[in-house]
Amino acid sequence: MSTLRPPVLFPLFAKVTTLPGIGPRLVKFVEKIAGENVVNLLWHLPSGLLDRRFSPKVGDAPAGKIATMVVEILAHAPPPPRSKVPYRITCGDDTGKITLVFFRGERDYLERMLPVGEQRVISGKVELFDGRRQMSHPDHIVPLTQIDDVKRVEPVYPLTEGLSPKILDKAVRAAVAKAPALPEWLDEAYQKRHGWPAWHEALRAVHTPANEPELLPDYAPRARLAYDELLSNQLALALVRLKQRVRRGRRIAGDGALRAKVMAALPYALTGAQARALEEIVADMGSETRMLRLLQGDVGSGKTIVALLAMLAAVEAGVQAALMVPTEILAQQHFETLKPLCDAAGVRVEVLTGRVKGAIRAELLADVAAGKVQILVGTHALFQKEVDFADLAFAVIDEQHRFGVHQRLELAGKGSGTDVLVMTATPIPRTLTLTAYGDMDVSRLDEKPPGRMPVDTRLASLERLDEIAEGVQRAVKTGGKVYWVCPLVEESELIDLAAAEERFAHLKAVMGDKVALIHGKMKPAEKDAAMDSFSGQGGAQVLVATTVIEVGVDVPDATIMVIEHAERFGLAQLHQLRGRIGRGGKSGTCLLLYAPPLTQTAKARLETMRDTEDGFVIAEEDLKLRGGGEVLGTRQSGMPEFKLADLMAHGELLAAARDDAKLIIARDPNLETPRGQALRTLLYLFEQDEAVRTLRSG
Ligand code: ADP
Ligand code: MG
Repeated sequence: MSTLRPPVLFPLFAKVTTLPGIGPRLVKFVEKIAGENVVNLLWHLPSGLLDRRFSPKVGDAPAGKIATMVVEILAHAPPPPRSKVPYRITCGDDTGKITLVFFRGERDYLERMLPVGEQRVISGKVELFDGRRQMSHPDHIVPLTQIDDVKRVEPVYPLTEGLSPKILDKAVRAAVAKAPALPEWLDEAYQKRHGWPAWHEALRAVHTPANEPELLPDYAPRARLAYDELLSNQLALALVRLKQRVRRGRRIAGDGALRAKVMAALPYALTGAQARALEEIVADMGSETRMLRLLQGDVGSGKTIVALLAMLAAVEAGVQAALMVPTEILAQQHFETLKPLCDAAGVRVEVLTGRVKGAIRAELLADVAAGKVQILVGTHALFQKEVDFADLAFAVIDEQHRFGVHQRLELAGKGSGTDVLVMTATPIPRTLTLTAYGDMDVSRLDEKPPGRMPVDTRLASLERLDEIAEGVQRAVKTGGKVYWVCPLVEESELIDLAAAEERFAHLKAVMGDKVALIHGKMKPAEKDAAMDSFSGQGGAQVLVATTVIEVGVDVPDATIMVIEHAERFGLAQLHQLRGRIGRGGKSGTCLLLYAPPLTQTAKARLETMRDTEDGFVIAEEDLKLRGGGEVLGTRQSGMPEFKLADLMAHGELLAAARDDAKLIIARDPNLETPRGQALRTLLYLFEQDEAVRTLRSG
């Protein structure tokens, strides 16, 4: 954490244990629901409310309602020793009586809280039992002087087991009381137009809702806080990108000669979408600013060739390009696809993975450092320290959802000013790309290459395994090629393996040499052998695999995909797997085998797979079925999660925050004006310290 945080924020970045009632025992629960600092409690907004303003006489209190009443304590009736009967206390006023009921009530405590002959304020739900009024475990019991504290609309906060509402309420109130007034960072006209209060007032308002509408995302104080959060996010991204852009100052512009040679060697023409995307990428490379572009295209839309042509544009300009992929198999396969095309253009492409070792590795690294290798394909091994490019100017990351934020950051740090293209088959909604990358440019391949055949997807119970194995055998006899994917067991890779090996043995007994096995634990050479045998002619026709084949593998004449325990896979994963077939002009069949009985949701998910091949529809459906919480595996993909903003409700505010951030950066890139200073406070408030650091290091 930075030491340059403005002192006005210090109380908010103190530990929650500085709040009343939060001792060492409770701190872990508070950390669990909110966070370790006071500021985290400010962001813990109420999800409901309890109206305690209703304050009838005892004789008028209706059953089922929450009432706050002034009563005199009349008599205690402790239970006989060792009995299960509750402790009862009779209270009343001049209109009637009510019994307070305490299960396992402690006598000392109750006598102290509710001494006979005195008056107290009690608040809780009134019940009728045997025609008499009672209240079990009142929510509040306080002296008359504190009646105003109780007689109010009480916010209800999301809780966790071990934390009582009363304690959390008190802690949040104390946190809000510690919040200072802060200089205004919003544009005055924009704030006025929305009728938004100042930050401090907004904060107080969201924690004291008076009615249900004030709990909604469009309640002005809530919307303001959401905007603050989004603005801090967009401003931070804009600052980081500004710094990256400033660093750069070269254009990569090739003459098109190598691209022309490769196009001539291709057995097909680019689709309109591919040509458009390539044009956009090449234009980015030719501009002064640093490129960060996302190429989004469903499985099989032909991203690889677009990447190759873009890399050739870099090679034409005399610089190096790299293609990073998530698995060794995929690296090998991409290399094999690219090699003949590069040969046709006289370009040297090599592959670097963890398995390239010893003298060969040393020689390869030397050639990369000398600039003799123009295109390098590889796994994340590419970005290790020992890999020293002569002049890496363009990097492509394939299937980016498989890489963590961490790896992406590492990449950004390799060659400063490297243009970056990330490719993904995961349809990330625009709002999410915006929050993860700021104003990242996006190219879409929204058109598939011609000759794509539909895949017929069917669901079948695992009980029909034998029948399915026979079907596969028939297909193999007529020359078909089949992927057979074995279940993923998360707890143990060994069990995965055992399942795959058992299936392999089973199918081999029936079909002999026509069956090959591939999994992540095999030696590289064994993997290659299995892959070669399956992709070539006259070799294996059934490839039994764990999910190592999930991403990007291309064997065009494979037409059948069997997936065991399909219910255990994510929809995106199933979609990726299914994308392996129906590629070579022959229609495909995908069999999703499940273990009955299926839950409602599992059934709905598999039916979605059966009913559509559209990646966007599948992603949306996945989102709906999984509920709002986890959007498209946002956790893995490093998308930020917001505490105050709700992207479904505040999408428009996000767009406004982006424009606002752009304008701020254009006018006051170092945040030096009075508003700029206030914005620095905003960045610290939302812990965007990283972004503030870019200001100083300039
Ligand atoms: P993905 O977008 O899933 O990475 P690939 O780049 O692996 O897709 O391409 C899938 C298949 O489509 C490959 O076999 C590739 O040769 C083929 N392909 C790509 N572009 C075209 C095109 N314009 N016309 C015909 N086939 C194409
Ligand atoms: Mg691909």
